[in-house]
Amino acid sequence: MLEVNLVKIKFKGKLIELKPTKILAVAKNYVKHINELKLSVPDDPKIFLKPPSSLIGHNGAVVIPKASERVDYEVELAVVIKERCWKIPQEQALDYVLGFTVFNDITARDIQAKEMKESMPWDIAKGYNTFAPVGPEIIPAGDIDCHNLNIWLKLNGEIKQNSNTKNMIFSVEYLISYLSNVMTLEPMDIIAAGTPEGVGPIKDGDIVECGIEGIGVLKFKVENEI
Ligand code: MG
Repeated sequence: MLEVNLVKIKFKGKLIELKPTKILAVAKNYVKHINELKLSVPDDPKIFLKPPSSLIGHNGAVVIPKASERVDYEVELAVVIKERCWKIPQEQALDYVLGFTVFNDITARDIQAKEMKESMPWDIAKGYNTFAPVGPEIIPAGDIDCHNLNIWLKLNGEIKQNSNTKNMIFSVEYLISYLSNVMTLEPMDIIAAGTPEGVGPIKDGDIVECGIEGIGVLKFKVENEI
């Protein structure tokens, strides 16, 4: 079956189509998460790409692929870019942000471990269809202070991740400046700003709620591939 991937998201009371040219994700942006994975704190942002085809909207279903036996949740602040930009200084970075939303960087942890062991990129572990739930709403950049927002995740009603965006190593402004010095950012491109500690596995039948203060709660269910 051909999966049609049309993700809509609320922005200023209207449903708009979310069609980024790329999803840029930060691998290590909270010290306690780096510690739990026994990795080292980076000097500069560690970035990988998730394909836009992995997006699903609010109240969607994450599908556990048959190829993996360990799929994890990772709640993250998502930055949605407003207009095409290139080489933006940090002081101007927020001018290029449409708004903020909630993102989950779903990861096939067993596949990622194999890719890491082989010193290969994570495109497969991070790139399955449905591995990027996003929503429920984009909150305009001027309406919230992205530097101090509680961020949490509940698995079947139980709190599993609980942090604050003030714990990010690299700020939103730093990430936009850093990335736009490498590549042109396009309207609706997404920067997923990294996950805090407490990541863990999901399985068929689970209900996951991901919240960021001032933005809302992104909810999804989990299903096995059939
Ligand atoms: Mg992540």
